[in-house]
Amino acid sequence: MQAMVLNALHTPLAWTELPDRDPGPGQIRVKVAACGVCRTDLHVVDGELPHPLVPIIPGHEIVGRIDAMGPGVADLKLGQRVGIPWLGHTCGVCPYCRMQRENLCDHPLFTGFTRDGGFATSTVADARFAFPLGEDGSDESLAPLLCAGLIGWRSLTIAGEGKNLGLYGFGAAAHILAQVAHCQGRSVFAFTRPGDHPTQEYARSLGVSWAGGSDEMPPQPLDAAIIFATVGDLVPLALKAVRKGGRVVCAGIHMSDIPGLPYRILWEERELLSVANLTRQDGLDFLSQVPKMGIVTKTTRYPLQQANQALADLRAGLFEGAAVLVP
Ligand SMILES: [Zn+2]
Ligand SMILES: [Zn+2]
Repeated sequence: MQAMVLNALHTPLAWTELPDRDPGPGQIRVKVAACGVCRTDLHVVDGELPHPLVPIIPGHEIVGRIDAMGPGVADLKLGQRVGIPWLGHTCGVCPYCRMQRENLCDHPLFTGFTRDGGFATSTVADARFAFPLGEDGSDESLAPLLCAGLIGWRSLTIAGEGKNLGLYGFGAAAHILAQVAHCQGRSVFAFTRPGDHPTQEYARSLGVSWAGGSDEMPPQPLDAAIIFATVGDLVPLALKAVRKGGRVVCAGIHMSDIPGLPYRILWEERELLSVANLTRQDGLDFLSQVPKMGIVTKTTRYPLQQANQALADLRAGLFEGAAVLVP
């Protein structure tokens, strides 16, 4: 197998020839067909997450087909198309696993961070954490659903039922979630970097009710806001944009420091929450809804060997939607 390996933090990924791996008990080996590039991959490369493990193969939006199975794998078969998400393993016995909050497991493994991921021609995964994907849709179009889509879905669930929904940062996750929210009959208000008119125009093309800069107030108070951008300065702005009792959800795994804020913008029972990881149930719920909602993902394809370019372009905000690596 070949892979783009992170050998040390803050260094480019290196194209590397590696021995083929055999799946152990309960594991599957997947021939990677496409792997999305997520902002979390940048955080991994940049050493912004605790307990980094290098060398590591990043990538946690994996679509591929099972080409080998270890002993004890049930409910999956050779040749089946599956998706491998960020949550790669949980312990099953800690208090969080026992209270159906496995996203907060005390002893988890995360794909592309603490276990090898999908910036490779092949990967080995815990079969219990792979999602059957069926045969509808191209590999490339499905890849961004595995994290951008899933984290967006969990964030939306936590944001509640409110009709007027603000999305701060209009990248891979928001472009999917705007379509989901639209299908649910909500009104979406898209916030981009101030002056980023092309992204605002792109958001409007996806049916949002309003698009503007993050320094602007929406035309009406929001019931909830989800912050996808990694900018802590957005927290007070979003709190000011939500109504009394409104909710602000931080969807990222990493964010710059949140500045001091006057208590009055939190008062009146506004809530500030964060989203961490996903549960398998989130994945099953979301992926079962995808065909009904007719979600179209916008992707930019890069050959696997150009993973560093894809990461650089993501950092610079050079494409709309999501980057996807194809071996
Ligand atoms: Zn656990
Ligand atoms: Zn991700």
